[in-house]
Amino acid sequence: MSPTFPDIDPSTGETIADIPFASPEQVEAAAADARAAAEAWSAEPIQERAARLERFGELLAADAEELGALITREMGKTLRSAVGEVKSYAGSVADEVDQVVAALAPERPASSTQDVTVVREPLGVVAAITPWNFPVGMPLSILTPALVAGNAVVFKPSEHTPLVGARLAELLQQVLPAGVLQLVQGAGDVGAELVRSDVDMIGFVGSRDTGARIMSEAAGSLKRLVLELGGKDPLVVFGDADVDEAARCAVDHSLRNTGQVCCSIERVYVADEIADAFEAKVEELARSWTHGDPREKGTKMGPLVSAGQRDRVDAQVRAAVEAGARLVMGGEPAEGPGCFYPATVLTGVAQDNPITHAETFGPVVSVTRFDGSEDEGVRLANDTIYGLGANVWTADAERAQRVARRLRAGQVGVNRYLGGTSTTPWVGARQSGFGFLGGADGHRQFTVPKTIAVAR
Ligand code: ADP
Repeated sequence: MSPTFPDIDPSTGETIADIPFASPEQVEAAAADARAAAEAWSAEPIQERAARLERFGELLAADAEELGALITREMGKTLRSAVGEVKSYAGSVADEVDQVVAALAPERPASSTQDVTVVREPLGVVAAITPWNFPVGMPLSILTPALVAGNAVVFKPSEHTPLVGARLAELLQQVLPAGVLQLVQGAGDVGAELVRSDVDMIGFVGSRDTGARIMSEAAGSLKRLVLELGGKDPLVVFGDADVDEAARCAVDHSLRNTGQVCCSIERVYVADEIADAFEAKVEELARSWTHGDPREKGTKMGPLVSAGQRDRVDAQVRAAVEAGARLVMGGEPAEGPGCFYPATVLTGVAQDNPITHAETFGPVVSVTRFDGSEDEGVRLANDTIYGLGANVWTADAERAQRVARRLRAGQVGVNRYLGGTSTTPWVGARQSGFGFLGGADGHRQFTVPKTIAVAR
C-alpha cells in the first residue's frame, strides 16, 4: 500500500478520500514519460494541438455542474461560484487557444541580405504546480498555453483539491495523445521532487515563500520559471470618492471566496474626511456576508480551505487587535465541525500593525485612515514587499491617472475592482511574481524563440 494523504471536506471535516501520493520514483517516471511523449507532440501542427484543446473546453463545459460540486466539496467555495469558475474557464478556452496560436506565429523580420524567420519552439516538459483557491482556473492558466505551445506537462494539483485535479487531467487526457499530460498527487514534498526532476520549466501559482523555494531549487539546472505569487493589495479611497461604491468594492473583494484570492483587497486606506461614513458603510455591507453551507443557495461565504488556514487567520486577527486595531465585527472562529470563520472588519489598523504586511488569505476587511493626500496614499499603498494588484477610488480623473502610474502593481483598478481583457497579461510586480500569465508575453514564455537565417 502506498502512503496516502486525506482529502478533507472543509465544510464538515469529513474525509472524502485517502489519496495515494506520488513517490520520488513515480515523480521521476512521470517526468520521463512526459519527455518521451514531448517530441511527437511538438511535431504535431499547432492547429491540431489547438483543436484538441478546444475539444477539451467543450468537455469541461459539459462537466461544469459535476466538477463544480467537487470543487465545493474539496475546498468549500460556494457551489454557485464553483460552477461559475468551471463555466467561465471552459467558455474562454477557445479564445485563449486562438491567442496562443497567434502569439506563437513565426515572424519574418525584413532583411535585404538573408531570409530570416523567428520560430517559437516548445521548451520540452513543463511542471505545473498549482493551488486550491481556483482549482480549475489556476491550472488552466498554465496548462493551456504550455500544451498548445507543444510542451508535455506534469501537473501537480494542490493537496487540498486532488480530485478536481484528477478530473481535469482525465478530461485533458481524453483529447491528448498518451503521455503528454502526466498527473502526480501530493503536497509540498512531491512538488519539490517535481521541481528537482527532469523538467525544463516550472509554472507555479501559490505563495511567495514557496515561489522563493522553487526559484532557489530551480537555479542549479537553470529551469525556466513563471511564478504567480501572493499579494497584499491596497485600495486607496480619496476624499472625493463615491463612498458607497468604494465601500462595496472593499467589502466584496476582501470577502469573495472567503478572502482566499491572491488579488483580494487586503488593505483599505480611506481619507480622514470621509472615513466615518465609509467605515459605517463597510460594516453595514459586511454584515450581509454570512457564512454557511456552501451548497445552499444564498450562502455568500463557505468555510476556509482547512483548519490550518482558519487557525492562521484567527491568529493574525488576534495579533492585529493586540497591536491596537479595533475589531468591529467577526474575529471569532465558528464552533463545530468545518473550518468556518466569519466576515471580520478591523478599523484603526496602524501601518506598523503586522496584519498590514502579512498576506491574510481570509475574510477580513482591514481599514486604515490617512490624511487624504496623494503622496501619503501612494506611500502607504506601496509600503509592502508585494505588487500584485492595487485599486484607487477618486472622482478626479487626472489624480486617478497620476496615482495609478505611481502604484507599484501589475494591475490597477480605478473606480472599479481590477480589470483588463482576455489579452492583457496577469503579472505581479516586486515579490508578487516572476513572469506573466496570459497575454502574448505570457504565452510566449512557454517557448524559446529560434532565429533561422537563410542565405539569399
Ligand atoms: P497555498 O497554501 O496557497 O496553496 P503553497 O505555495 O503552499 O500555497 O502551495 C501551492 C502549491 O505549491 C501546492 O500545489 C503545493 O503542494 C505546492 N508546494 C508547496 N511547497 C512546495 C515546494 N517546496 N516545492 C514545490 N511545490 C510546493
